[in-house]
Amino acid sequence: MEHLLEVKDLEVSFDTDAGEVRAVKNAGFTIGKGEIFGIVGESGSGKSVATKSILKLGPSNIRIKSGEILYKGQDIRSLSDKELRLLRGRQISMIFQDSLSALNPVYTVGNKMTELVRRNESLPKTEARQKVMELLKDVGIVDPERCFRSYPHELSGGMRQRIMIAMAVCCDPDLMIADEPTTALDVTIQAQILHLLRNIQRKKKMSVILITHDLGVVAQMCGRVAVMCGGYVVEEGTAKEIFHHPAHPYTRALIASMPRAGSGKFEQFLERSMQDNRDKDLCPFYGRCKYAREACEKELPVMYAVEGGHRALCHLGEEAFDV
Ligand code: SF4
Repeated sequence: MEHLLEVKDLEVSFDTDAGEVRAVKNAGFTIGKGEIFGIVGESGSGKSVATKSILKLGPSNIRIKSGEILYKGQDIRSLSDKELRLLRGRQISMIFQDSLSALNPVYTVGNKMTELVRRNESLPKTEARQKVMELLKDVGIVDPERCFRSYPHELSGGMRQRIMIAMAVCCDPDLMIADEPTTALDVTIQAQILHLLRNIQRKKKMSVILITHDLGVVAQMCGRVAVMCGGYVVEEGTAKEIFHHPAHPYTRALIASMPRAGSGKFEQFLERSMQDNRDKDLCPFYGRCKYAREACEKELPVMYAVEGGHRALCHLGEEAFDV
C-alpha cells in the first residue's frame, strides 16, 4: 500500500509549571492512501496529542521535541506557518468530538460554510452558496435550506456532526483526522455518522485517521489499527490481527474490558489507574500488567515483528502467545 503519511519516532511534551510532561514517546505509524486507520487507547494514552501534532495543533505549551511527520514524503515540521495553513483544511482536515464548540455560535451554518468555501475556492457568493447546499445534501441533511439559516445551537448533535463532516470534505482533502467523532452521540446517531463517514471516505477515496477509545468503532470501521498506551504505540496491525490475535497484554486487557451483550457485567480489567512511568523509559503498562517480569522494571522493550506488519512493544515477544 502506498503511504500517504509516515510518523516516525515522534516525541511530544507539554511545558507545565511542574516541569515537562511527556505525552507522546517514540510513536510511529503509517497511513496508506485510501485507508481508515484507527488509533485506540484510554484517555491520556496520547492518541489525540499525537494526531493533533500532525497539524501542529494544540495548546501553546505543546512542543514537538523530535521525530518526523512525512506527508507525501515532505516533513510537515519543516513547513512555514503559511504552508501549514494551506495544508490544513485543503489537504488534511480534522473533525472533533465537540461539534458545538467547533462551530462558531454567532454565525449561521450557511454563513460559516459559505465563508469557508469562498476562502478556499475564491467563488462568487451565489456559486459558493450553491456548493454549500450540495455539501449539506451530500452529508444527508434533509432540509438544507433550513439548516443553512440555522445557528449551531438550533441543531441536534447528529446534524452538527454532519455539518462538521461537510466542512471537512469541502476542499476534497486527501486525509481526514476524526477525533472521537461519535463519542458525544447516542448509539443510533453514532451508527448513522459512522455509516456516513465510511461512505464519504469511499466516494472521495480519502484516508481517515479515526481516533477513538471505542474498540467496537474500530472493529466496524478500520482496516489497520495502532493501540496507544502511556504515550507509546504498543501494538500495530490489521483490525483482524488486533482483535483475533492480540500480542500485547494491554491490547488484550482492552479487549477483555469491552462490554459484551448478554454478559450482564462489565469486566474491569483496567480498573487500576495508570502507574506514572512518564519520566522512566519503561513499558507504559508496567504496574498494571500481570505478566511483568524482571526486564520490565529495568528497560523499555523494543518493538518486535509478530508477523508481517503486525508488531508489538513487549518483553514477552513471541512468548506472549503462550501466557
Ligand atoms: Fe507486561 Fe512487561 Fe510486556 Fe509491559 S513489557 S506489557 S510489563 S510483559
